[in-house]
Amino acid sequence: MARAFNFSAGPAVLPDEVLARAGDEILDWHGSGMSVMEMSHRGKEFISIAEQAEQDLRELREIPANYKVLFLQGGATQQFAQVPMNLLAGKGKADYIVTGEWSKKAVKEASALCDVHIAASSEDRAFSYAPRETQWSLRRDAAYVHYCSNETIGGVEFHWAPDSGGLPLVADASSHFLSRPIDVTKFGLIYAGAQKNVGPAGLTLVVVREDLLGRAAKGTPSVMDYKQQAEAASMLNTPPTYAIYVAGLVFKWLKQLGGVAEIERRNIAKAKLLYDFIDASGFYRNPVAPEDRSRMNVPFTLADAKLDAAFLDGAEKRGLLQLKGHRSVGGMRASIYNAMPIEGVRRLIEYMQAFEARRG
Ligand SMILES: *Cc1c(COP(=O)(O)O)cnc(C)c1O
Repeated sequence: MARAFNFSAGPAVLPDEVLARAGDEILDWHGSGMSVMEMSHRGKEFISIAEQAEQDLRELREIPANYKVLFLQGGATQQFAQVPMNLLAGKGKADYIVTGEWSKKAVKEASALCDVHIAASSEDRAFSYAPRETQWSLRRDAAYVHYCSNETIGGVEFHWAPDSGGLPLVADASSHFLSRPIDVTKFGLIYAGAQKNVGPAGLTLVVVREDLLGRAAKGTPSVMDYKQQAEAASMLNTPPTYAIYVAGLVFKWLKQLGGVAEIERRNIAKAKLLYDFIDASGFYRNPVAPEDRSRMNVPFTLADAKLDAAFLDGAEKRGLLQLKGHRSVGGMRASIYNAMPIEGVRRLIEYMQAFEARRG
């Protein structure tokens, strides 16, 4: 079967070139006589893979030397707890910006560990926008401020790095990591589950400023202590070796096509094509404020929800897969991550046009 266009929110599409390369190397990695899956994480082969992946990520993301890069497990969900465990530093207070389902989940986990203050929320307009800093009420004595820089379910993206008023800024960047240039120095910590825009599930990336290390609360398990993981080069225990290897191939792929600036250019073009089509249509609708729309996750509804099943069925027959919206919001969602070619967006729009003409 030919490769379909996969619009899943995650685990999600990976570049053909990366999958083909992983396939070529699956039995024998670089003459080692082993699959990467079979290698000791302490052997020279895998150490070289992990070091190269970190170096390529540092180059792509322009990560300064005073930031550590950690390759962890447990997903972004584990970070919801791990962030407060490591960053509260005895202050017992943290501020959160709530813009949708994922930031709500982050609040829930943190609330079990500390006093959480909602410094801003977009719930007043059904999580359809990103609140500007003038609407944030931060507490000066909070240990950090957390926000979700791209809400995967609602399709709301912060297109700027907010000013956190001197507090360490913590971002859940899971679903747009490496989709655009950012200034890492604005952040105390950035985390991302790999399975959205970076690689296979099982790997979580954490980029953390050095001065925030070494503050873990008493009782924090050692694998969850950033400082201990940093000192052990993320190998306090067995890391997700194969996921790190594939993420490394994705980093190489990105570098070869021109880095984060080039992928941003492509992502802007893809998103514009799809949003322009939706806005011009009287049949499809996206509820997000135009200036805060995600370039990665495009939720949309049909004029009549009774047509949803027929829409999805027809899409699948054309090789346009996993367009069903998240169960909490319904409708459709097209995730158009880095690895989605513009041809996939064109094919989706052609199908949407044809469906509207027949059923609308
Ligand atoms: C998918 C996602 C998560 C949850 O990721 P897991 O790896 O399943 O824990 C958290 N935050 C955002 C923004 C996401 O897109």
